[in-house]
Amino acid sequence: MSNNLLQHGAVLRVDLAAVRANYRLLKGMLKEGGGGTECAAVVKADAYGLGAAQVASALLKEGCRHYFVAHLDEGVRLRSVLPGSAQIYVLHGPPPGTESMFHVHRLVPVLSTMEQIAGWRRLARQLNAALPAVIQFDTGKSGLGLSSADLACLHQESHLVCGIDVRYAMSQLACADDPEHPANQAQLDEFQRLRAMFPKWKASLANSSGIFLGARFHGDLARPGAALYGLAPVHGAANPLRQPVQLKARIIQVRQLAAGAGVGNGLTYKATGPRRIATLSIGYADGWGRGMGNRGVVWFDGVPAPMAGMVSMDTCSVDVTGIAEDKSGPGQFADLVTAHYTIDDIARATGTVGDEILTGLGPRIYRDYVDEN
Ligand SMILES: *Cc1c(COP(=O)(O)O)cnc(C)c1O
Repeated sequence: MSNNLLQHGAVLRVDLAAVRANYRLLKGMLKEGGGGTECAAVVKADAYGLGAAQVASALLKEGCRHYFVAHLDEGVRLRSVLPGSAQIYVLHGPPPGTESMFHVHRLVPVLSTMEQIAGWRRLARQLNAALPAVIQFDTGKSGLGLSSADLACLHQESHLVCGIDVRYAMSQLACADDPEHPANQAQLDEFQRLRAMFPKWKASLANSSGIFLGARFHGDLARPGAALYGLAPVHGAANPLRQPVQLKARIIQVRQLAAGAGVGNGLTYKATGPRRIATLSIGYADGWGRGMGNRGVVWFDGVPAPMAGMVSMDTCSVDVTGIAEDKSGPGQFADLVTAHYTIDDIARATGTVGDEILTGLGPRIYRDYVDEN
């Protein structure tokens, strides 16, 4: 074990080859759709916790030319990693007064309000240049995006987008992980209806799950995030993606409990007989959340050991009574996430979604990058 790993309580192994394979799989599905759809990569929230710089550089090798982040700050940092030929889109658009930073760092804002459009138009006029942007439509998710009334106004008063080079009309699907949900078709219909006012603008609609809804949803640019990182795109269906992450945490101490002894904050776990309890060096400050308390398992050489007691800030405990002592002593590692016990499995066991677990894994966890086929 390298010295680097010894300084950390937990290790996230990130297989960039698996991320690249997932990108190729999604790109292949878009190609089969036949519409010439390009495949972007959503690398917001530090590429869902995997590392935006590493993931973006790996995908560059696969020919990815479009990257999405949420915040200006994320875009500025990503710009220093990617060549000028790569497009970086900022989903939240410019907070008032930051427009020129977008221009300086060559970031393309996603504009979701009339105020953001006005700010971008003003900068274009000042610079006497056409400035690129994506314009977001609300088609029923009621999150970010222009309303149908806003769009009617833009359609009638086209000077409002004067100087803006609209690269894509974009919208977000609310229920794409459920292919049977009627909102999918309703949102597609609404998107087409609104787009008819702006026939020259290309379309971007599908997130990861949207790609799996079929070619009608693909548009000109798809925006997968979760699927690149191995999360299941279709609720209840087999997951065709590779698992790029494995998580291990170190055992700090092991103790023998007598029947009746309690474990952890609030003593919510009570030993019903003699038990061996191992304390792991990962806690809710690392994103191993309190939802894991007394729920789910960790693994030693493929043998499960249940979580015991509530998760603390820096540690959590597991019941290793059923694990060979030579596999579960101090200094040894428990497997928390593996190819067979995925982030989605843990999310199911603990009542959340995989994205939340993945994006929550904190900076104290050492990232060990590999890029092997
Ligand atoms: C986060 C995000 C995505 C990526 O969604 P996934 O479900 O992770 O594929 C796509 N589009 C927008 C607007 C987003 O905010």
